[in-house]
Amino acid sequence: MASLKENHPEHVLEISSACKSFGQLGVLKGVNLIIKKGERIALMGPSGSGKSTLLNCISGVENLDSGDIFLNNSSIRELNRSGVEALRRESIGYIFQSFHLLPTLTAFENIELPAQLIDMPKDERIEKVRKILKLVGLSSRSQHKPDELSGGERQRVAIARALIHNPHLVLADEPTGSLDSKSGDDVLSLLEELSIEQGVALLMVTHDRTSTRICNRVISIQDGCLV
Ligand code: ADP
Ligand code: MG
Repeated sequence: MASLKENHPEHVLEISSACKSFGQLGVLKGVNLIIKKGERIALMGPSGSGKSTLLNCISGVENLDSGDIFLNNSSIRELNRSGVEALRRESIGYIFQSFHLLPTLTAFENIELPAQLIDMPKDERIEKVRKILKLVGLSSRSQHKPDELSGGERQRVAIARALIHNPHLVLADEPTGSLDSKSGDDVLSLLEELSIEQGVALLMVTHDRTSTRICNRVISIQDGCLV
């Protein structure tokens, strides 16, 4: 069915009546959310309430049972599979609790990867990786592999990787969950700074009230709905 949705250029993400169950277990029961350009939103809620499931549905790891998700006003239900993948590659960056860096690649190569996937020309790519390594304070670590970096440094590599291709939206699932409080605090400040500088929206899952300091809005998920 064709969508009757109006075009809102400032909406980076819209979620409309999203439902998702695993067998008998209803996890998302009609989630609605609009994220505008440059907004930073904290998503809270008890363990098992569906925070990661919501991020997974946005990123395409999981499919919704019903409802729809619009990325830059394109419905992911209406695009074919390769169209959705291309849209996600271009418009989303990801940061995970446990970094998810590729262990055999250097910091430089890990950061370069998303830009390669969208076919950014090599010269431009190298220039951008150098620039962002500097922004995250890791120029001197560019040739190190993940296991040669501290937790905080790995997460800074992950932030650089999430932003290298100029996405409109960064999804972060407990990005400070594996870090000590000092490194966690540094990572949050960096995320805030880069989000403001690059005008990128952020949807960040967190357990921790103090992490919400970098966000403009705090939402929480309860009984499958956002409140
Ligand atoms: P949160 O991130 O808020 O802690 P999750 O979104 O990971 O919660 O999980 C929500 C609920 O869905 C949990 O009860 C979890 O066990 C269940 N769940 C998540 N992913 C799956 C899956 N792939 N298969 C079955 N159940 C799942
Ligand atoms: Mg989770």
